[in-house]
Amino acid sequence: MNNGFTKKFIPVREFKHNPDRLNVLSSGGGTQSNAIICLIHAGVLPKPDIIVMSDTEREASNVFTYQREHIAPLCEEMGVEYHIVQKSRYATYDLVGPNKEAPLPGYFTEYTGRDKNGNCSGRQPAFCSDKWKVDVIHRFLNERYGELNLRRRGVDMWLGISIEEAARRMKITTGKWQKRYPLIEMLMTKQMAIQCVEDYGLPTPPPSLCWMCPNRDDDLWLYMKNHVPEDFQKACDHEKEIQEMWPHLWLTKYGVPLAEAPLKPSGGKNTQMDMIQFMDTGGSGRMCANGNCFT
Ligand code: SF4
Repeated sequence: MNNGFTKKFIPVREFKHNPDRLNVLSSGGGTQSNAIICLIHAGVLPKPDIIVMSDTEREASNVFTYQREHIAPLCEEMGVEYHIVQKSRYATYDLVGPNKEAPLPGYFTEYTGRDKNGNCSGRQPAFCSDKWKVDVIHRFLNERYGELNLRRRGVDMWLGISIEEAARRMKITTGKWQKRYPLIEMLMTKQMAIQCVEDYGLPTPPPSLCWMCPNRDDDLWLYMKNHVPEDFQKACDHEKEIQEMWPHLWLTKYGVPLAEAPLKPSGGKNTQMDMIQFMDTGGSGRMCANGNCFT
């Protein structure tokens, strides 16, 4: 392990945490969350009380292998508990949410017709990250620390979002659950986060999205098709399953079976991390990989 960059890193602005509140790093499993863990390990950031990641139970199969092999040992070494919390232990909804007519993920729909290219003209609103991540982590923490205790003490949820995404953060955050953005507060860019991860000798993390996530762009679908074919097959099957209840819904904008979708590579325009971190998907499903979708 080479601590050259990370250990010597002096942030332009310091991240000041409030130890009176419970400090929780809410990890999305992406580069920026992992960079925060490297910065904690290097002593640049203070230690949170706990690190938590929600397992939606539809995560890409290589995500937890990466977390187990590369992230868990760092957490153990610095003495911070790291929990991957299974959704089904705490979530009250799976695919069907409070509105029985619609599933939680933001699938593409042809309900309102198709555009001039023959693509679906609409998207379902997305509530999956709220129900599968936010609620799950809140319930886990309430159970572990006591609901009343946390209400009195307050919880600071640290999220891995860098300065480029500052416009997307919640600016005013009050009450029991408050959002903190260590990378933004230290004026850190995505490139600096990548450097921290590389400096620790960690490989680029795999896309940390559910294998059926309709927020993938063509590059990410192609990545999965070529590198994780078993997940791609699960996504194809999933599309057929949802269509038994909602025949107008699709996983891609093309509105054809996933296996036949005319997926086009962006020609290397986007790196894998750019794709994950700057997906413009709208709704609460935006940027699941860096934790923003479960703030
Ligand atoms: S937005 Fe995508 S990655 Fe996030 S919970 Fe929903 S399906 Fe999973």
